[in-house]
Amino acid sequence: MLPALPSNGPTMPSQLILVPQISTVPAHESKAQSLLAWLVRQQIVEALPTTCGFGGRGMAYAIGPAARRIAERPDLLPYGQRYNGLEVISGRCIYVPTGDFLEEAGCPECRQEIGVPLFASLEEWFPGETDVFCCPECGFEDDINGFLFLQPCGFSNLGFIFNGWVEAGLRPAFVEAFAERLGFAVRQVVIEQPL
Ligand SMILES: [Zn+2]
Repeated sequence: MLPALPSNGPTMPSQLILVPQISTVPAHESKAQSLLAWLVRQQIVEALPTTCGFGGRGMAYAIGPAARRIAERPDLLPYGQRYNGLEVISGRCIYVPTGDFLEEAGCPECRQEIGVPLFASLEEWFPGETDVFCCPECGFEDDINGFLFLQPCGFSNLGFIFNGWVEAGLRPAFVEAFAERLGFAVRQVVIEQPL
C-alpha cells in the first residue's frame, strides 16, 4: 500500500508530482503519450528519456530550456543536477507526502475526520478492487480522490513526477493548462527532499 517510489535515501531529489484526481483515467497510456508530446513540443522536457530520473530504471525526460517559462522561481529549477527529469508513471500508484505525513482525510459531506479508515481502504484500492471509498460516518461514497486531504495526496493510474522541481514550483496557469489537456483536475503532491 506504499507508493511505488524508492525508499528515502540521502540522494533522493524532491519531487513535484501532478496526479489526476481520479483513480482510473480512461485510456491512460495514450493520455500519457499525448501529454508528454505536448510538453516536448513546448521544450519543457526533452523528447527522449535519459538517466536523469530517480524511480524504476532511473530513466526520465530531462528538463528542457522552456521549463523556465512555466516555473514560479525559474532560478531554482534543477538544471545541471543529476535528477532533473520527468517520469511518467502509467500504473496504479499512491502518492502521499513523505516525512511528516499525518494520514488525515476528511469527508466532503459530513466533514468528519476519516483518515484512519480511508488509508486502511487503500489495501483494496491498490490492487484495483475498487476506485471508491465510502464514508463510515455518513455513507457518502465517491472516488477516493473526492475526499479532502489537508496535505495533498493522489491516487491514480497516471502520475507525472518532476524530479527536483519542488523549489522552483509550477505556475498555476501551467497546471491549469495541463489539467485541461488531461481532461481531469490534478493535485500537486510534494515530496520534500529528506535531510
Ligand atoms: Zn461523511
